[in-house]
Amino acid sequence: MKTQVAIVGAGPAGLLLSHLLHLEGIASVVIESRTREEIEATIRAGVLEQGTVDLLAQSRVGERMQREGLRHEGIYLRFAGVSHRIALSELTGRAITVYAQHEVIKDLVAARLAAGGTILFGVKDAALYDLDSDSPKVRFRHENALPEISGDFIAGCDGFHGVSRPSIPSRHRHEFTRSYPFGWFGILVEAPASTDELIYAHHERGFALVSTRSPQIQRLYFQCDPEDNLKRWPDARIWEELHTRLAGSDDWKLAEGRIFQKGIIAMRSFVVEPMRYGRLFLAGDAAHIVPPTGAKGLNLAVNDVRVLASAFSRYFKSKDEEALAAYSATALKRVWRAEHFSWWMTSMLHRFHDDTPFQHRIQLAELDYVVNSKAKALTLAENYVG
Ligand SMILES: Cc1cc2nc3c(=O)[nH]c(=O)nc-3n(C[C@H](O)[C@H](O)[C@H](O)COP(=O)(O)OP(=O)(O)OC[C@H]3O[C@@H](n4cnc5c(N)ncnc54)[C@H](O)[C@@H]3O)c2cc1C
Repeated sequence: MKTQVAIVGAGPAGLLLSHLLHLEGIASVVIESRTREEIEATIRAGVLEQGTVDLLAQSRVGERMQREGLRHEGIYLRFAGVSHRIALSELTGRAITVYAQHEVIKDLVAARLAAGGTILFGVKDAALYDLDSDSPKVRFRHENALPEISGDFIAGCDGFHGVSRPSIPSRHRHEFTRSYPFGWFGILVEAPASTDELIYAHHERGFALVSTRSPQIQRLYFQCDPEDNLKRWPDARIWEELHTRLAGSDDWKLAEGRIFQKGIIAMRSFVVEPMRYGRLFLAGDAAHIVPPTGAKGLNLAVNDVRVLASAFSRYFKSKDEEALAAYSATALKRVWRAEHFSWWMTSMLHRFHDDTPFQHRIQLAELDYVVNSKAKALTLAENYVG
């Protein structure tokens, strides 16, 4: 197969890139190791920045999001048993939209297939070749065949555990990592929303987050040991822990419901530089990971492909390589802003294993400053809405 851009991975980055390229008249082929059913059912992120919402709407894949997404104009920081509102829209003129990542995936897959785009699902053993030549290639197994795609470029959009990043020789990769000594225990619950806006809670037993996916489905998290075992957490224990961390002196109450999914996510900060090697360009989680506290992972993936699609467009229209040459530096500026914000939110809201009572008080002092200083609240707000 020949194409202009071979895309590895049908996550938000790969699918949106393929869609944006199509709008510019550029051909691409997407390969994905999982099935369509799997990618459309994997529950992950759910907070879309204003810029993400605008891009999806402008590129005509935002119709359902605009109908079903929930626009939030603030978030709550809850500490010492009291909730304090950060008025995102009042402070920045922008808002966030809660619309689940797998719904974005469904919209993008439908748009690509309706436009005659090629997405090969269920591919195995993808391997990248000739990345520093004019004709980079991807080989893989698909339906008992061993096809090869040769493109002008390859976009590595295959997430943190994909094959693209490790295909770059290690001497050309500078990796920056920070692992956190805790994870998030996440549950999906059939229940009405307990709050009109997300609640980020600081508690001496650890962080908790009250989030939503739809008026009927709620997404709740609490900080846990990353090595913990789901079997140790029967439903009653989960509710007890959440109620403890969210307890307060106001009359706010968390609504319980049927828990239908449980999982533990590790927390990591990671960046590889540069996000390019030869004719391979990395985008999304393939190049960087943030702890989910700042809700930035999906939004960063979208920003990368916005920049990359525009650079490819310039190249294919006029053979101008300037924007492609600048891609990594341009994307990394935004990446490091989000890395800092996600690290800051994580550090301010979580309990660390070596925390002393002094550190606990320092966190409370910082939270108090955020909710009482307009300048500090604005810093949080402008980073959060993107
Ligand atoms: C469990 C979990 C929960 C999360 N929760 C949040 C959250 O609450 N908020 C937030 O902002 N972010 C969250 N994130 C992060 C967010 O989901 C990611 O940042 C986002 O999915 C990045 O999109 P992507 O397209 O770069 O990568 P991905 O979504 O990982 O997509 C990569 C795709 O490539 C495919 N692939 C991998 N290897 C290969 C291969 N060798 N060949 C072909 N295909 C391959 C994968 O199957 C996958 O479909 C979460 C992530 C995880 C894992």
